[in-house]
Formats: sequence, C-alpha cells, structure tokens
Amino acid sequence: MALIEDVIELLEREALTAREICYKLGLEPEREKEIYALMDKIAKIVRRKGKRLMMIPPRCKNCGFEFSKYKATKCPRCKGERIEPARFTIR
Ligand SMILES: [Zn+2]
Repeated sequence: MALIEDVIELLEREALTAREICYKLGLEPEREKEIYALMDKIAKIVRRKGKRLMMIPPRCKNCGFEFSKYKATKCPRCKGERIEPARFTIR
C-alpha cells in the first residue's frame, strides 16, 4: 500500500504530527484521521524491520499536561483546548 509506505518514509526522517504528514503528502488536512488509523499497522511493519514507532504525546499548551493517547481535544486538568498534537517518529 503506497500511503502507508510514504508515511513510514517520512517518519523515518523526522517526527511529525498527523496534520504535517497530510501536508507533506499533499492530502487534505481532514485525512489526518486516516493517518491516525494507520499507526497501529505502521508499528507492526516497522517492528519487523527492527525499528519502533514512537509517539511524542499530545501536550496542553496551557498547563503542560501530557496525554497518554494520541487523540486529545480538551485538557482534563485545566480544561484548556489549546493542545499541541502528538508527533510520531520511527527509530
Ligand atoms: Zn491543561
């Protein structure tokens, strides 16, 4: 599958958010949902190559709260909605 391979190639080079991946691949920003959906598959593929998909978790820009999941819209600590999105990288 071409999309998944393109995403893997990007993430082997740098840490990116789903939105940045869409931008770099010339995809509509709405397709970031598809990018998130690929992450489990990507993790399995790169593990076979002896690498790991790493996530830098989303973080609240207001209070610094770190989320444990990659999708985050509202901070449970301060209720802030300015969230720095998750970044993914392959090492
Ligand atoms: Zn917060």
